[in-house]
Amino acid sequence: VRLENLDVEETTCGFCAVGCRFEMWSKDGDTIGTVPVDDPSAAPANNFSTCVKGKFGHEFANSDRRLTEPLVRTDSGEFESVSWDDALEYVAERLREIQNEHGVDAVSCLASSKGTNEEAYLVQKFARQVLGTKNVDNCARLCHSSTVAALQQTLGYGAMTNRINEDVGEADAYLITGSNTTESHPVLATRIKQNVRDGADLVVFDPRQVGIAEHADQYTRTEPGYDVAWINGLIRYVIENDLHDEAFIERNTTGFEDLREKVRPYTPERVEEVAGVPAAELESAAETLAAADTVVFGWAMGMTQSSHGTQNILALANLALTLGQLGKPGAGLSPFRGQNNVQGGGGDMGTLPGSLPGYQDPSDGEVREKFADAWGEHPPAEPGLKVPEMFSEAHEGNLRGMYIVGENPALSEPDVQHAGEALEALDFLVVQDIFMTETAEHADVILPAATSPEKHGTFTNTERRIQRVRPTAAPPGDARQDWEITQELANRLGYDWDYDHPREIMDEISDLAPIYGGVSYDRLEEGPQHGLQWPVPDEDHPGTPYLYDYEDGNFNFEDGRARFVPADSGQPGEIPDEDYPLTLTSGRVLYHWHTGQLTRRVEGLMSHVGESFVEIHPELAARLDVTDGEYVRVESRRGEIVVKAQVTERVDAGTLFIPMHFAAGAVNKLTQETFDPQSGIPEYKVSSVRVEPL
Ligand code: SF4
Repeated sequence: VRLENLDVEETTCGFCAVGCRFEMWSKDGDTIGTVPVDDPSAAPANNFSTCVKGKFGHEFANSDRRLTEPLVRTDSGEFESVSWDDALEYVAERLREIQNEHGVDAVSCLASSKGTNEEAYLVQKFARQVLGTKNVDNCARLCHSSTVAALQQTLGYGAMTNRINEDVGEADAYLITGSNTTESHPVLATRIKQNVRDGADLVVFDPRQVGIAEHADQYTRTEPGYDVAWINGLIRYVIENDLHDEAFIERNTTGFEDLREKVRPYTPERVEEVAGVPAAELESAAETLAAADTVVFGWAMGMTQSSHGTQNILALANLALTLGQLGKPGAGLSPFRGQNNVQGGGGDMGTLPGSLPGYQDPSDGEVREKFADAWGEHPPAEPGLKVPEMFSEAHEGNLRGMYIVGENPALSEPDVQHAGEALEALDFLVVQDIFMTETAEHADVILPAATSPEKHGTFTNTERRIQRVRPTAAPPGDARQDWEITQELANRLGYDWDYDHPREIMDEISDLAPIYGGVSYDRLEEGPQHGLQWPVPDEDHPGTPYLYDYEDGNFNFEDGRARFVPADSGQPGEIPDEDYPLTLTSGRVLYHWHTGQLTRRVEGLMSHVGESFVEIHPELAARLDVTDGEYVRVESRRGEIVVKAQVTERVDAGTLFIPMHFAAGAVNKLTQETFDPQSGIPEYKVSSVRVEPL
């Protein structure tokens, strides 16, 4: 709708993966605000409200510090603005030179979970078809890759099994763990809080007394890094007391006897010793969950970002299956995913080293032929490097070039000192972004791109709902749409891509990825329920609210049965000792988002939380003679930072918490490079540190 110089479009939030819908308002090309969509059936969760980021956070798009022209680093080390022609020619030439000299896999692509599905699809196509490299990944590696690995093994699909409004909002009971829901997924948390006020039971297990715990019937503080122990303890209690859903298990699963054996040693005494969970609290949680007709299990990175993250999520899936809490309204396994499009751009679109769009196996003959027919090239069959491997290979000099789209690994990788050295060691780095990020500072070429209020496309939210994104403003200066930039690069490297609009890219996605088979822009415009939940196998299919069925199973395996895959308890990669006696954990705050490149540009958000801080328990603060608001030094084996102390009982006396959003006082100067062997996710949530007053 255009009213003189005012633009209003219905679109999807560009921050978290709740995927709230709102009208975006722009005036004279500047984003001025949002109004929630007033239609309960048209929104995943927010027909009544958005959170503070959805309301005010989009001002970053108006920043006068946006990148507006291509930049190339000169011999003197400074950036110089150049024409698009010169920049694109230079990028194409250098990428080919590196590949000719060192092989096709000497170059990698890092795609974005913030951009649209269409943009992510093109980045992996660029990697596989144009560059012929097997090395493509995205930042979902760092947040929920362990969720995907675990759920694929147990249930078949690596995604949320149910819906936000109707299930997360309507459960009889919840187990929320490793999720600071009120700050990281505020609108979803509001749904839960409303339901708890109406009588639902809320059980929260977390090392930190996060905001959602204030609304809980039971909050249990856990020892960071030992989650399998207490989850296996819950399963043991349920089985020993005949509280499991025997009929569901018999009908729909395999491997229950192995699980029973595996959890037998997790007695309440052992759980208390290992995970710090008192026996009475373990028992009451198990009784609450077993007594409820429907239970939602919600988690986020407190569970996934662990050196045994996959084991943590396997354990949660085992618990849900044991209780028969899948495939029925008000129940299910609900990973709360972080970035706006991490489900779509970070997974569904195949921006993964061993997975083509729609999670198809690149070594499968039939799949390979299908892609070869569409692209004229077979995609590489072998899995490529995961993100952390890209950085270690770059550090070793084996990976020579990178094309990074819309991500900021210089601040988001664990041990950023090491990540920065890896970026510096590259022969050639291209960064496509909207600001001069910490990563762009290492680049040889920077390509200025567009952001969500300037785009047509789609995002897929945490409940697998594919929704439209529409622009109300144009990118500033000479900045271009990401899909156009990737297309230009492909064509300069000898291809003939000729997409005129993202809808044509979606048509190609739906031809190639069966879970998106019936998705088209025409259908996404249809009401009353905007968006479609995948799988959508054909154009007549209404989408899939529940991935599985309580009665019939329908788990995504040939026999339709879920697999119990028993989980092993282990130790974190670093354990407190005499030199570094405290455990550091990290996470988000309500007013910021990820590495803060967007939210640190918004005055209204910075006025609430304008710098990094460390949470310290009053007992520890007294021991150190540190007062609230005083600056302290926090040090690990990787480095040290200076941050303001926030004295609070949210953490216990052996644990510190620092948010992840700031470059000054960057928590990832301290975090460790230990990884989950199955998913490659780093152990951000447990590092050994010491703290001292300045
Ligand atoms: Fe945006 Fe998430 Fe806030 Fe909704 S809850 S407005 S999707 S940041």
